[in-house]
Amino acid sequence: MTRLVLASGNAGKLRELGALLGDLDVELLPQARLGVDDIEETGLSFVENALLKARHAARITGLPALADDSGLCVDALGGAPGLYSARYAGGHGDSAANIARLLRELDGVPPARRSAHFHAVIVLLRHAEDPQPLVAEGSWPGTILETPRGAGGFGYDPVFLDPERGLSAAELDPALKNRISHRGRALEQLRARLPEALAALR
Ligand code: IMP
Repeated sequence: MTRLVLASGNAGKLRELGALLGDLDVELLPQARLGVDDIEETGLSFVENALLKARHAARITGLPALADDSGLCVDALGGAPGLYSARYAGGHGDSAANIARLLRELDGVPPARRSAHFHAVIVLLRHAEDPQPLVAEGSWPGTILETPRGAGGFGYDPVFLDPERGLSAAELDPALKNRISHRGRALEQLRARLPEALAALR
């Protein structure tokens, strides 16, 4: 059994990753249980922030570490809110305020120029000085609606339209969203490449 520390305090992520890794003989431990605090996300890209979090957890615990980072990038806003998606309107995780700011910034921008994508990165560092981390990534292209639609999901889901299905992310069946989303795609890559990365640890 390989023990991995998850550099996140998010119970949803722990569940999702735990289910995905269920048959890999891996025990996933949330960092808080091992006394690891949150660090400041000072990187300038998703992958840098994921690596900072994983390295911090690996350094403190001596265990291999998994970390992720994700956000929404809007083309007409030069990629914003990007790294700052969770705190776009100031407070961390206030989705209604974040959506309100996003719609304000895009006021008057026509549908054809409201393209955007969600992006997710998940990294595995086998140890704090690992020079060759496993980096899994996924993107989900869409457009930003002019008014929120749907009651499911979280974050920016009500204003993110999946053009292929004509539904907002908050209107999609959750299982379907998990499969086609940025996070789903990154997890799929991680799942495919993890056994080889873990074999090197045994
Ligand atoms: P984190 O990767 O958990 O830090 O998430 C960053 C932020 O990006 C979240 O707080 C949301 O605002 C946004 N975000 C990331 N993934 C999604 C998604 O699937 N739906 C809606 N918002 C998302």
